[in-house]
Amino acid sequence: MQASDTKIAFVGLGLMGVPMAKNLLKAGYQIAGFDLNQEVAAKFLDDKGFHFVSSPEQAIQDANLTILMLPDSTIIDALLWGNNGSVGIATHLRKNSYLIDMSSSSPISSKENNQKLEKLGIKFVDAPVSGGVKKAIDGSLAIIVGGKKEYFGEVHPLLECMGKSIVHVGDAGAAHAVKALNNYVSAAGLIAASEALNAANQFGLDPHVVNQVFNASTGRNNTTENKVENFMLNEAFNSGFSLALMRKDVQIALNFIENMNCYASLAKQCVLTAKEADEKLGKGADHTAMFDYVRSATL
Ligand code: NAD
Repeated sequence: MQASDTKIAFVGLGLMGVPMAKNLLKAGYQIAGFDLNQEVAAKFLDDKGFHFVSSPEQAIQDANLTILMLPDSTIIDALLWGNNGSVGIATHLRKNSYLIDMSSSSPISSKENNQKLEKLGIKFVDAPVSGGVKKAIDGSLAIIVGGKKEYFGEVHPLLECMGKSIVHVGDAGAAHAVKALNNYVSAAGLIAASEALNAANQFGLDPHVVNQVFNASTGRNNTTENKVENFMLNEAFNSGFSLALMRKDVQIALNFIENMNCYASLAKQCVLTAKEADEKLGKGADHTAMFDYVRSATL
């Protein structure tokens, strides 16, 4: 889909949604944007082709493609199908239009949503992203795509404005499954690195040196390579990905693994540790503050 014949509704303009929408605007797409937080409108004052609207219904009114970048599937299901007496936007989406859910959602919900949307004539694509705020800003996200192959072909040019590696992994819901599993593996690496560096420090070792050794050895992972020095040992704890979202992701992964009747002992422990850390550190904590939690946790 080219910019000239695409009108986008973008719902969810948070840490990730804002830079992703800006990259679409730069490529010439027109966007009607909506977020519960109206203050985000100010972030687009200098951007051509954007107008902030006051409801999701208004955002989708003229759209032939809707992008969701929302926290989780509970919020997405309520938006699509309504709750507490509201109707939801699904039945107002234009026939033959695309709905691309770029949030990190539950694969099980996405599969169900796809079936219901198909009956309404809406083309569903799940396209969660990896890479964080930095890569959202420079348009180099990794985008994992699920849905019909022909839909993938059609939305590819638009996804290219936001990401570099764009991989189709299977039918609707498949990308959300892969994303949740990726984030589980990543969270396990974060927790392991936090525990190891804390213990090394207690032993009197320099955690910077220990992390250098990890990075030259088999303990190396995304946390040791990117997060330890940039966000953890300097106590900045400001990577832009919240602990609450990481907790949600590991819970989605655990649900998925259990749904497949597969062994999940470490996934269960990650969910428990993420829950304890999230409750202790409170709203707004960054996921890299896991290191802070581990340091202060009592046995
Ligand atoms: P965020 O909390 O910064 O943004 C979410 C936005 O959704 C907020 O602005 C909020 O006001 C808005 N919102 C919530 N409910 C709404 C509703 N009903 N209608 C309209 N707007 C609503 O979160 P984020 O970090 O931008 O993450 C968004 C999604 O992307 C999540 O699913 C997250 O797991 C995923 N993700 C985040 C990162 C990251 O590094 N932050 C990386 C990859 C994927």
